[in-house]
Amino acid sequence: MTSLPAVALIVAAGRGTRMGGEVPKQFLDLCGQPALSRALGAFLCHPMVSGAVIVIHPDDRAHAKDAVSRAANPEAKPVTLAEGGATRQQSVAAGLDALSVAEDALVLIHDAARPFVSESLITRAISAGLRHDAAVPVLPVVDTIVTVDAAGLQTGTADRTSLRAVQTPQVFRLGAIRAAHAAVVQTGRDDFTDDAGVIRAQGGVVATFAGCPNAFKLTTPEDVARADSALRRNLTDIRAATGYDVHQFGPGDHIMLGGVRIAHDQGVVGHSDADVLLHALTDALLGAIGDGDIGIHFPPSDMRWKGAASRVFLAEAVRRVKARGGEIRCLDGTVVCEAPRIGPHREAIRALISEVAGIDISRVGLKATTSEKMGFTGRREGIAALATATIALPEV
Ligand code: MG
Repeated sequence: MTSLPAVALIVAAGRGTRMGGEVPKQFLDLCGQPALSRALGAFLCHPMVSGAVIVIHPDDRAHAKDAVSRAANPEAKPVTLAEGGATRQQSVAAGLDALSVAEDALVLIHDAARPFVSESLITRAISAGLRHDAAVPVLPVVDTIVTVDAAGLQTGTADRTSLRAVQTPQVFRLGAIRAAHAAVVQTGRDDFTDDAGVIRAQGGVVATFAGCPNAFKLTTPEDVARADSALRRNLTDIRAATGYDVHQFGPGDHIMLGGVRIAHDQGVVGHSDADVLLHALTDALLGAIGDGDIGIHFPPSDMRWKGAASRVFLAEAVRRVKARGGEIRCLDGTVVCEAPRIGPHREAIRALISEVAGIDISRVGLKATTSEKMGFTGRREGIAALATATIALPEV
């Protein structure tokens, strides 16, 4: 990893028994993206974070790999999966062992069940860590807090002026938190529920900094519903963009169009399978997120894409939209050629696009037209496609 000041350690090894579902809560889908992907993406996009270690349960490796691939920026910085232990404390210790950064680097220890960690919260954590070596985000306690007996009768009222609710990411110097974890194991304890507790058990000092009320933890099914609806309400950055592509006809007996093989008395010339419709749709999606074009992501000079099925390109553009927390609202294409006839294949093409984009088929449009025998399409020299994508991104 690089010399950036901080690295993330994301604890995702819990089995979410309080939630009661099949899938542990850190892998639950929140408005199209797993909770872990959202948390991981926030760290990977932060300019002062060099990479991440994610601690997982051995049974969740497939879930975790999927979540990493669906985070923003997954290739830009190193992400390592480490297997955790039976308790949170053991899992953090395993993650600390898996980090390969300098001992004085800051490690941001974060619970994957807090998907709404923001750039500003990470920035506050890093600056608190640089000043104090160990610090945790806290919120003032606004409710009155009482103590009760076994029968539920009040026995007292706590003085909330000195109480704080603790969040993550908690920040430490790597060497110090590693040493503290090693030392508490020697005392026989393996039940610490946070890492500030581990430092303090060894006589260390832990500072606090301002947490974020939105960075709540997914604990109950109601929390998941709250998170999902908050994300949906925030999809207000509506964007539309276009794509256009042309390929020349050449020798052959079929063309690929919209991922469907269509018999024709000519083929199409191209580095990949030369599917003009999927290429135009890919460019429209990339345009909507301002993320280059198909030639930048899949250069013709790269032999990996020779003869490639173009649904791979569309799937990557879809992944890039979703990694930004976005939702595809509509994909629409127009194919321009004298032949072959598109009508008989329209529904198969729409079905394929809807499957690759993960949207209902009613959100996929496809029209075909000739150019009245004018121009290169009219002379049957090639085929063209125009596309429009409409997406909704979260307001930031
Ligand atoms: Mg093309």
